[in-house]
Amino acid sequence: MANNSATEILSIIKNTPSAKVVITTHHKPDADAMGSSLGLQLFLNNIGISSTVITPTDFATFLHWMKGSNDVLVFEGNEDKAKKITAEADFVFCLDFNHLNRINEYGEIIGNCKAIKILIDHHQYPQGFEQLTYWDDKASSTCELVYRFIKESDNTNHLDKDAAACLYTGIMTDTGSFRHSNCSSNTHRIAANLMDFGIDHVSIHDQVFDSFTEERVRFIGYAISQKMEVLREYNTVLITITSDELKTFKTQTGDTEGLVNYGLGIEGIKFAVLIIDRSKMVKMSFRSKGKFAANAFAIKYFNGGGHFNAAGGSSPKTLEETVLQFKDFLKEYKQELNA
Ligand code: 5GP
Ligand code: MN
Repeated sequence: MANNSATEILSIIKNTPSAKVVITTHHKPDADAMGSSLGLQLFLNNIGISSTVITPTDFATFLHWMKGSNDVLVFEGNEDKAKKITAEADFVFCLDFNHLNRINEYGEIIGNCKAIKILIDHHQYPQGFEQLTYWDDKASSTCELVYRFIKESDNTNHLDKDAAACLYTGIMTDTGSFRHSNCSSNTHRIAANLMDFGIDHVSIHDQVFDSFTEERVRFIGYAISQKMEVLREYNTVLITITSDELKTFKTQTGDTEGLVNYGLGIEGIKFAVLIIDRSKMVKMSFRSKGKFAANAFAIKYFNGGGHFNAAGGSSPKTLEETVLQFKDFLKEYKQELNA
């Protein structure tokens, strides 16, 4: 798929008199999704283009410090207002997802609206629903792509400290604090350029990773000590969480983020899986080390997708049935996971 240039995309918007712009991102937006959406919104504001950020669902409180987060319109619960704004939009930026099924019910509204859809994304296998594309699956994060979009159009002078903080956050989280293979020397250069706007990286890290509720820390401890299964035969770790457990620990949006990674911290483990009963559906997170393709597994068996080493999916079956199925599917990969 050919990319459009950032300059071309911006000039199409600028040439539309009083353009109405919506920015949206995926279901249960994480730091990259929110950072890229709000970072882009702040930048667009600085060049005289106003916009509305609409998220399909709510997002974690540890991201509420981001400038503009109070004005985000959450589709779930505000359907009529969100539908009206979307129907009137001339442009919809779609950030950090590339399949309309990643944004639930709002996906159909985006798919059917008259607006020109502009994709900025770094996931593999895009659906191709958009008219203008700024995509690179080698980018560490959508925040990195938004920075590149701004730089390529020669607009870094229109970035400010608040936008830089948003973009830095998504790069930090999607690279696992600069440790995953998606982090290049260029990613570090971009992070350095963002730091030069005077952002407080210590405070950002603290708010995202070191401001948990007591319940969340106890929940993580419980999940690891009581709910983690090590399948040595497959070098795989599995954590399952029931909907009752989510209630018992009063978990909030974002509280299960990062839980899947603990399994990969065990020596020799190549595949870690978190399966959660979210009541409406069973949601799964997959993480892998090295050459095992987590996204291929998610696509093949659990209607999912994502990146090579970090992917997700879902199942319409019960938690118990999903776990049994998962263990069954794993058999096919015994050799690969033992290589
Ligand atoms: P997480 O496990 O943190 O929710 O997601 C890991 C990665 O997989 C993210 O890049 C996310 O966008 C992607 N992902 C998570 N769930 C799904 C899903 O159900 N479908 C697709 N296509 N991608 C997903
Ligand atoms: Mn991302």
